[in-house]
Amino acid sequence: MARRRIDAVIFDLDDTLFDCTGQLTEPARRRAAETLAAAIPDSDVSALQRLQAELADQLSSADSIREIARRHELRADVVESALAAYNRDHVEAIAPFQDTRSTLDELAARHYRLCLVTTGRPERQRRKVDLLGLRGHFSEESGSLILHDDRKVPEKDEALHRAARCFNLSPCRILSVGDKLNSEIAASKRLGMRTARLCFGRQKNQRPRTPEERPDHELNRLRDLLELLP
Ligand SMILES: [Mg+2]
Repeated sequence: MARRRIDAVIFDLDDTLFDCTGQLTEPARRRAAETLAAAIPDSDVSALQRLQAELADQLSSADSIREIARRHELRADVVESALAAYNRDHVEAIAPFQDTRSTLDELAARHYRLCLVTTGRPERQRRKVDLLGLRGHFSEESGSLILHDDRKVPEKDEALHRAARCFNLSPCRILSVGDKLNSEIAASKRLGMRTARLCFGRQKNQRPRTPEERPDHELNRLRDLLELLP
């Protein structure tokens, strides 16, 4: 079947443009585990860190922490402290994937329009974009950086829809790239976009559970996009 030409690419940030799981998620789980362990008698910090990772297969990071708290009947203020430890605004030194900047530069040189739609606490996500040196490609002023606060709206659909409106393009001319099947892949397909899954991060080995979680393309590394988008 002939495919329509792609004119624009929407990227996810965490585990799509940099190794968030390795550089930030595990240290964040460690901080939350330390807070939880202080409130659970005879508990083990490493075990609580591993349990968050196991629960995160099905739950969000925040809900994994809440689930552990529920099992141990922890007070609400302990849960809040653990969530704050996980999500602190301070972001450690982080670096993009080796091929991130060269891939973005080449796509821009090929005249693809680029947008970043990222989920999380806005201050923290903004800081990541700065630290990763991605301001040259993505900014809120130009509409090419859209921050999706999932505490207000859990699903990513509206933020992705806003990106499509900024491009003023039909969704079928947009390729959406991300690592999460149940987040950007499903949401982008619901909106009629083409999708590419980067096989990385916590959902790396996960199989699609519904038709809308099935991506159109799978990428082992970001620069594989350059073959997909001539
Ligand atoms: Mg991601």
